[in-house]
Amino acid sequence: MFDTGTSLETLPTLASEAFERHLPPAVPAVRQRTLKSSISCTGVGLHSGTKITMTLHPAAPDSGIFFRRVDIAGGGALIPAHWASVSDTRLNTCVSDASGVSVHTIEHLMAALAGMSIDNAVIDINGPEVPVMDGSAAPFVFLVECAGVVEQAAPRCAIKVLKRVAIEDGDKLAMLTPDHCFSVNVEINFANPLIGRQDCWLTMNGQSFKSEVSRARTFGFEHEVAALRAAGLAKGGSLDNAVVISSDGRQVVNDEGLRYEDEFVRHKVLDAVGDLYLAGAPLLAHFYGLRTGHGLNNRLLATLFADRSAWTVVPMESREGRIPAAAAASRRLPAAAIA
Ligand SMILES: [Zn+2]
Repeated sequence: MFDTGTSLETLPTLASEAFERHLPPAVPAVRQRTLKSSISCTGVGLHSGTKITMTLHPAAPDSGIFFRRVDIAGGGALIPAHWASVSDTRLNTCVSDASGVSVHTIEHLMAALAGMSIDNAVIDINGPEVPVMDGSAAPFVFLVECAGVVEQAAPRCAIKVLKRVAIEDGDKLAMLTPDHCFSVNVEINFANPLIGRQDCWLTMNGQSFKSEVSRARTFGFEHEVAALRAAGLAKGGSLDNAVVISSDGRQVVNDEGLRYEDEFVRHKVLDAVGDLYLAGAPLLAHFYGLRTGHGLNNRLLATLFADRSAWTVVPMESREGRIPAAAAASRRLPAAAIA
């Protein structure tokens, strides 16, 4: 791999020299990315129901993604957005520091940061939960686009999965298998006829996350709302931030209907993208999830990293990994957006 000082202008010369010496042509390093400027949003917490302001800040190369609870005395501890910091996976993914300071419902923001290839950021938050916004990752993608993105000097690395790693729990399954790029396939199977069996495959590239899954909202059933609130959950849930299915199970209560015909499974793909970005770097692997959720996704990462022979760190050769053209073409999703 080149050192990070290699510019695009020098590549033709270097490529012709490599050809003359019968060496493979050189590939420029993919650089890490952060935000160009700080940017804030305010919204309600899905589970806490409280009003929260969140600010995304640029961060130095190789620092990763951290949360900082600015409402905690002393400036707040830094909580790494990392699978080992996950402390609760009950209807959300929550990270905590050693003293128990937590940030809940990070998964949609993490999915947006994964989809936008943001490696380094500090996220200031003045409450216990990331604002739910509209229940999808699209507002966070928009926030990153408004702040702008800059490339940094450090090369971007990926975690390359070397062998199959799987975890089962009853009728649920989460599995990683080696691949040249990062792709996600999730299947769900609900008794509810409105959802039923749905299957979605996403191959991550520059635009696929934004166009194919970022707008898919979280969802719930009208008859479950009272029980969730009694359990201290979904206090901020409303038709503004979730797809709600009627008590008779036959219709979507939201006036505007669905954003994608199969919005439910697309949201599960979105959740998996966010949960798996807690690996600390992009994965070069295929993820398959059958009725998977935050808990199983987290246990899968713990299982992967417990086996040192199952993964290695490699410099990225392209922002998506390396996708053979034929494989990429066969993985395109049918255009199913209806709104
Ligand atoms: Zn979700």
